[in-house]
Amino acid sequence: MSDKVLRGCLRKMAIEPAANVQLPVNYALRAGAQQLALNDKLGQPLTLEWRGAIACTHCGRATKKSFAQGYCYPCFKRLAQCDTCIMKPETCHFFQGTCREPEWAKQHCFQPHIVYLANSSGVKVGITRKTQMPTRWLDQGAIQALPILEVDTRQQAGFVEVLFKEQVSDRTNWRAMLKGEVEPLDLKAERDRLFNQLESGLNQLKAEHGDDAIRLLEASAHTFTYPVSDFPRKVVSHNFDKNPRVEGVLQGLKGQYLILDSGVINLRKFTGYEIEVS
Ligand SMILES: [Zn+2]
Repeated sequence: MSDKVLRGCLRKMAIEPAANVQLPVNYALRAGAQQLALNDKLGQPLTLEWRGAIACTHCGRATKKSFAQGYCYPCFKRLAQCDTCIMKPETCHFFQGTCREPEWAKQHCFQPHIVYLANSSGVKVGITRKTQMPTRWLDQGAIQALPILEVDTRQQAGFVEVLFKEQVSDRTNWRAMLKGEVEPLDLKAERDRLFNQLESGLNQLKAEHGDDAIRLLEASAHTFTYPVSDFPRKVVSHNFDKNPRVEGVLQGLKGQYLILDSGVINLRKFTGYEIEVS
């Protein structure tokens, strides 16, 4: 058994789909430039200790507090990726000339986006850049996902998402997701039901943005299995800010969470925290 110690600033875990959909997806914990394969650690004790430092995930400078899951305050105020329009793409203000970083936006927002349905704790709608599939779904702990529409820009994806939110949530109930209380769904049937209910809204968006701006996708559904030996019955969260030492026996990995017998921790929330893993 290796007692190899990993030390560095936390990045979100790398999650790779398995070669075969019956097999669980593969997790690696990432600290600085180092990686630790986690699937093999199931059933073993794991300790993560925050050393007290936080480095901005963008510029690397030391920060006392982390903003928007890993940024220093200057980056949080300056970067387009930290602007509120990223979370609410329908409020994109590029055409008012007030985008924080127009060049960045051209590469990230003015790219094809996918509107999808996923099942992380019941059906939800979401949007993602095409290149972020399937990472986005794995980060959410979705057990199923189905791309349903393709659009040209992030803002258009936002308009479509706003429409779908009339009928379906855009949130994950992370406690239900972690407890494994998620029944498989027929996402294609959900899609057809939603297309029916939202037909006039979709037609209106097409009229506003051009007939070929919102394209139906005939994709197949993805399914994912996570490496979990025991789902927690009660979800208790660890938090480095309250207790810098997190230890327990690893019982599972789902979304960006470690499930330990002592509680769960959302590692993405602590991006940039300098930790030691043993
Ligand atoms: Zn920074």
